[in-house]
Amino acid sequence: MARHIEKRSSKCQSLESPIKFLIEEASRCIQCNEPNCISGCPYGVSIPAMLSFASTGDLERAMSLLSDPRLLDLSRSCLTERPCEKSCTLAKKGKPIPIHQIELSLLMEDKKV
Ligand code: SF4
Repeated sequence: MARHIEKRSSKCQSLESPIKFLIEEASRCIQCNEPNCISGCPYGVSIPAMLSFASTGDLERAMSLLSDPRLLDLSRSCLTERPCEKSCTLAKKGKPIPIHQIELSLLMEDKKV
């Protein structure tokens, strides 16, 4: 019985961790006055707004900013280049916001990829 609960709880944790990860990472965004990430994004995503919604757990509103159909190719395109992350102000400190991964997690949550 205890083993069954343990198994189930570890399964639930693994399902929750991508959401926890994206909320934690989105919370690191410092909401720059001049967000370099936007100019680095080939799709013109309002990245700071998307991160702000994601950081509060409002995933629905965060996802609503990822409506450009070209983003559905995200899993293939930009995968190695990640221009938004290279442009992120925090990249200068060695730890940019993992924008690409956050967007992918949101799209997967929304079952779009
Ligand atoms: S550049 Fe980086 S830290 Fe600044 S708003 Fe964009 S994602 Fe956030």
